[in-house]
Amino acid sequence: MKLYDESHANPELLRGRRIAILGYGSQGRAHALNLRDSGHEVVVGTREGGPTWQQAQQDGLTVMTPRDAVQDAALVSFLVPDLTQPAVFSDVVEHLASDAVILFAHGFCIHFGEIEAPENLDVVLVAPKGPGGLVRSQYEEGAGVPCLIAVHQDASGDAHAKGLAYAQGIGGCRAGVLETTFREETETDLFGEQAVLCGGATELVVRGFETLVEAGYQPEVAYFECMHELKLIVDLLHEGGMARMYKYISETASYGDMVSGPRVVDASAKARMRDVLTDIQEGTFAKNWVAENKAGKPEYQRMMNEDLGHQIETVGKSLRARMSWLPSDSDEA
Ligand code: NAD
Ligand code: MG
Repeated sequence: MKLYDESHANPELLRGRRIAILGYGSQGRAHALNLRDSGHEVVVGTREGGPTWQQAQQDGLTVMTPRDAVQDAALVSFLVPDLTQPAVFSDVVEHLASDAVILFAHGFCIHFGEIEAPENLDVVLVAPKGPGGLVRSQYEEGAGVPCLIAVHQDASGDAHAKGLAYAQGIGGCRAGVLETTFREETETDLFGEQAVLCGGATELVVRGFETLVEAGYQPEVAYFECMHELKLIVDLLHEGGMARMYKYISETASYGDMVSGPRVVDASAKARMRDVLTDIQEGTFAKNWVAENKAGKPEYQRMMNEDLGHQIETVGKSLRARMSWLPSDSDEA
């Protein structure tokens, strides 16, 4: 494992030349503000009249169209949604400086060949391992979120060092920047969100809820057990792994965990996880997702409606309304 910190970064490599941040969403806003506060010259490129144009201006940043933003920029960061990146790239590629670094926070488009960069450009990945809000709030507290770094194309000979300077500017070197490849970052990121974090976790919760409700228990009680209390466990795992969880849950819960957990997530579940990984590695998942996008996302919308129409969502909404410490559901729209 190769890990970089502040002592390895040379911010001067990017000093005094424009850094263009394309897209002002979760990551875009955090990167732009952190780089600016680190003393870099930042411009934001987003759609004219779009919802985030004003927000970036209110945050005190210079905002332009993506084409104008990339003019003479030493580094251009593509922080629009992954499947929007190819269109934005096509729109700006003719306007990039001949020695520009193009940077991504997720390797999807480069790894799966959705973007093919001209040979004169450096192509770098700096992927914070956390959402944009955390990247910003940690930076403001003098800390940072760990990042991954990778180089796909090194035209200048300085691609890695410039990527590290960027990672330092967003606060990543304070927490540590870990060397990876576009392939490793892309495939593990997709696998994690599909099999464990988003896909796996929500299916586990919903199937557990259904099991209790179908057995005649009250949906409200099932909601508390299967969805609400998950946070408690996830927080313990996040803070101190399984050791911390076992330290704070009861002995009965620990025994039940050890005898019943492997009955639910067994070797056959692991074999299916491997299938999911194979689809990612062979590009099947990427191909399907790109095609779904081109078709206007009909299946995406159908499956989303099905998830959001589930009883656990209705029950949860009314229960959460009584928990004053939670953000209101309407805040999340
Ligand atoms: P987001 O959806 O929060 O924001 C995207 C921004 O791009 C929005 O401001 C949107 O208005 C703008 N945009 C959309 N279409 C545009 C266009 N045609 N031209 C200009 N601007 C346009 O996206 P995000 O979650 O910040 O993701 C950005 C990148 O960061 C992705 O590659 C993603 O995989 C990666 N990433 C995200 C996270 C995360 O937690 N959100 C974590 C690590 C990496
Ligand atoms: Mg799901």
